Amino acid sequence: MISLPTRPNVTRASRVPSLLIFDVDGVLVDTRRSFQKTTLETVRLFTGHHATRAELHRWKNRPGFNDDWKLSHAWVRSLGGRFEYEEVKARFQEIYWGENGGGNVARERWLLPKASLTRLARMAELAIFTGRTRHELDYSLDRWNVRRYFRRIMTMESVKRGKPDPEGLFQILDGRDPKQAVYVGDNVDDALAAQAADMPFVGVLPLRSEERRQRIRRLGSLAALTILGTVRDLERFLIRRQRLRPSSRTPVPTPKQTKG
Ligand SMILES: [Mg+2]
Repeated sequence: MISLPTRPNVTRASRVPSLLIFDVDGVLVDTRRSFQKTTLETVRLFTGHHATRAELHRWKNRPGFNDDWKLSHAWVRSLGGRFEYEEVKARFQEIYWGENGGGNVARERWLLPKASLTRLARMAELAIFTGRTRHELDYSLDRWNVRRYFRRIMTMESVKRGKPDPEGLFQILDGRDPKQAVYVGDNVDDALAAQAADMPFVGVLPLRSEERRQRIRRLGSLAALTILGTVRDLERFLIRRQRLRPSSRTPVPTPKQTKG
């Protein structure tokens, strides 16, 4: 059970976000064997190149490549593959969904336990801002039976401009103070969107992962409050932060500290 302050306390209250907004891929859902694997397989299918995860994350470290269709197409083109965007996107979707949902989508894992979601939902309103399509998101929310925890949901179709544009964050805020919210994401575009919205950002990069090795400094330089190793640690981070002095800032761990 979480013990929240019972007496009014301005300093502490301001350190407790009233709104937690989550990115999905790489944060709430482990997509290393779904979207990431599909991107590698798509590039290989079109170009014959054995694309690696190290290469994938070098692409993902660039702004504007949160979208895996766009990334796959740009990667194929950079290797000389003269294929249209729609062609690459269509094959990507075939690999991802497979027949009767038996493609790489079946390898996804939901990362935040319901008990933790329940406690977080008591602390703050929960919302989602993702680059996924509504169909892709619905599939996961229904598969893991977690839809009821999220009050507002922004997908690719909800916004005119995707991340790093902060439009989706502003829609969720609906006039509320961005400083009372936290955006939890794993990509450069997530951090840039938060920065553009003047909203605190928490990074999530799995321990001992390629993305953590490549991206921890970049997210740290974009003013992440911290970089967690898993979204399961978010609750503990928020409770600890609430107890710290206002001037304290949780340091972003260096790659050396995080190596197991
Ligand atoms: Mg993500």
